[in-house]
This record gives sequence, structure tokens and C-alpha cells, in this order.
Amino acid sequence: MSKWTEIEKKYYMPTFQRMPVVLVRGQGARVWDDNGREYLDFIGGLAVNSLGHCHPVVAKALAEQGKTLTQTSNHFYTVPQLQLAELLVNNSCFDKAFFCNSGTEANEGAVKLARRYGKLHLDGAFVVITTFDSFHGRTLAMVAATGQKRFQEPYTPMPSGFVNVEANSIESIKKATTKQTCAVMLEPIQAEGGVNIPSEDYLKKVREWCDKKGILLILDEIQTGMGRLGALFGYQLYGIEPDIITLAKGMGGGVPIGAFLARKKADVFKVGEHGSTFGGNPLVCAVAYAVTKHIIENDVAGNARRVGEHLGSRLAKLKAKHVFIVDVRGRGLLWAVEFKKDMAEPVMLGCIEKGLLVNKLKPNAIRLIPPLIITKKDVDEATGILGDVLARQAG
Ligand SMILES: *Cc1c(COP(=O)(O)O)cnc(C)c1O
Repeated sequence: MSKWTEIEKKYYMPTFQRMPVVLVRGQGARVWDDNGREYLDFIGGLAVNSLGHCHPVVAKALAEQGKTLTQTSNHFYTVPQLQLAELLVNNSCFDKAFFCNSGTEANEGAVKLARRYGKLHLDGAFVVITTFDSFHGRTLAMVAATGQKRFQEPYTPMPSGFVNVEANSIESIKKATTKQTCAVMLEPIQAEGGVNIPSEDYLKKVREWCDKKGILLILDEIQTGMGRLGALFGYQLYGIEPDIITLAKGMGGGVPIGAFLARKKADVFKVGEHGSTFGGNPLVCAVAYAVTKHIIENDVAGNARRVGEHLGSRLAKLKAKHVFIVDVRGRGLLWAVEFKKDMAEPVMLGCIEKGLLVNKLKPNAIRLIPPLIITKKDVDEATGILGDVLARQAG
């Protein structure tokens, strides 16, 4: 055991169940621990390192902007922020952008925007409908939005203004909609909640319902956006256009940045109604601009789609081999493997021993969220290791 595990125990709040690895270096889809051991990284900073670790595009933007201008406050115009806004707007169905520092903060901003819309256009409506098994973040309001008891119960009472309804059920959304509803907020695919893929026409029906009621549709694409599902944005795969989208994770390629984008209709903030000290600073925006541009110009989403299909077929083969795998599901490079029993922990630890990092999603499921730049060869290596570990579990 490394001395750092002891230091963590002594000095860091025990909120994380850490994997028994101290990471010190990363390159592409590989990371190294403090003993020099190499791992193939199928966690990628939790779907953050879209271009892998220390991609030259990220390193160059960080270094150059770090020597140029890093923070000014939003009292000034700065170039990287505006370049990034222009790039995102011109490659999406949205008209305006706002930048913040994390996914949770992006969702908070989106909900504030929806509440402003409610005050201005919906007679003061303020309630946002979200789904069970969703994940929208860790602030109090976003815990209320997150439809999972385990996140809410330690912190009750919850802030008001959210109702959680059954996922993948248009009827539940219809039933929960009242005169006080200003928006529905959904992940296209629930990621943290289990990689739960809705029925093909669900989002279309939600879109139709929101239009009928005049309420806003917010898509939380913090995990699914920026190429993860095999398209730049998840909504493009479902043939709908949300009114507001939230982004974070993959868009910074490793630096902390979040964003929400809105169509003209929902572009209702006025001067002073929202803000951020760090949000949209030149340093992170220069990196996110370089990352986003690279993703678009090199069709990184296309790679995620092609390599993701290969990963899906490899996982299907493992499922066919082992009765204790009850489901493999995913899209692009967001996949879950679900087991009959609570064996995610030993599978995860077995993979670490053989040099592969996978995420324990639930006691009975693991998640694979590698960098979007991985190759089919990386997939073969990862599924080879996973196959060995599973075979040992079977024996
Ligand atoms: C990770 C995640 C969040 C929270 O983002 P943070 O950057 O951790 O605040 C919110 N929604 C979804 C869908 C996520 O995957």
C-alpha cells in the first residue's frame, strides 16, 4: 500500500470510495500509478478526458493561454470565451451560451433560466419535473432534482420546486404537469443512474408534450454530450431539439468547465440575473475551445460511434459466454455491464490487477466510459482483460 492511502485517511473527508491506486501520470488512454504500473483507462476521469490524458491539443492550449491571460472577471470581453460560445452555437440548435465551472452549476443555471422563463411567460410557474434514477449533481437543488433517495435522504428537507417521476414514461410526466410546471429536465440516457436507455420515441413524446403545454425541455447532456454517444450531442440521435442543454465533463478535455446553451425562446436572462467569478475564464475556455474544435474537425464522435459498436459487440460476446451477465447496454462509448449478483467490486478489483480501470456503477454493474479517441485495438485489449476476470469469477 502506498503512503498516500494513509495520508488520505488522515487529511481528506471520507466521501469517496477510492480505488486502491495512486495515479501520477497519464498519456492517451493510459495512466500510470506511483509504482510505475500501467493501466488502460476505461473511466477517463469519469467521462471527462474525451481526448484522453494530456492530449497535445489540451497541453498546448493550457500552456499558451497560461502564458497569455488566465482570469479577468466577466466584467471584460475575452476572446477564448466568445470563440467557444460561437463554436458551440454554430454547431448546435442553440442561440446563446453561458459558461460556468461544473456540470452541477450548469444545471443550476439551466433551472434558474427556466424559472425566469416561468415568471415571464408562464404566470410564475417554477416547478421542474425530473425522473427517478436521474443524476443532475450535488448541490442541494440538484440533489432535489436527482431522483435518487440515497442522495436526498442525508440532506432533507429538500429545496422545493422539483418533482421526480418514473423514468421513460411519458404518462408520468403528463400526470405530474401542473400550472406550476416550467420545465422538464432529462438526460437522453441516464448515465450515473445505470446507463438506462429510454424507448426510441420517448424524447419525441416529451418534446411534443412540452410544446403542447408551452413548458421548456432541458436536456442534461453533461455526460452524453460532446461526442460521447457517437454524435456531437445526444439529442441529435433522437430527432428532437431541446430548449436548453447543459454540458460539462467532456467539453474541457480535463479542465473544469460547464455550460448551458439556450434557444432564442429561452434566452431570457437580463444583466445581473446570473453570474460567475471563474465561469468562462480565458484559461478553461481556451482549452475547451481547442478540445471542441478538435472533436468537431476530426469527427471524434464518429470514432466513438464506430469503436463503440465494436465495444458493444465484444460485450455481447461476453454476455453470451456467462449466464451471470444479465445485460449489456449502451451507445457510443457509454456502456454498462450488469450482473445477476453484486459482483461489480471483485470484477473492478480483478481488472485493476490486470491493468484495466473500469467504473463500479452499482453493486451489480460496471460502467465503461473510455476516452473518445480509443481504438478498436484498445477495446480488444480491455474486453480481453475483462473476459479473463469474468472467466475467473465463473470458476
Ligand atoms: C456528472 C454529471 C453531473 C454533475 O456534474 P459535476 O461536474 O460533477 O458537477 C450532472 N449531470 C450528469 C448527467 C452528469 O453525468
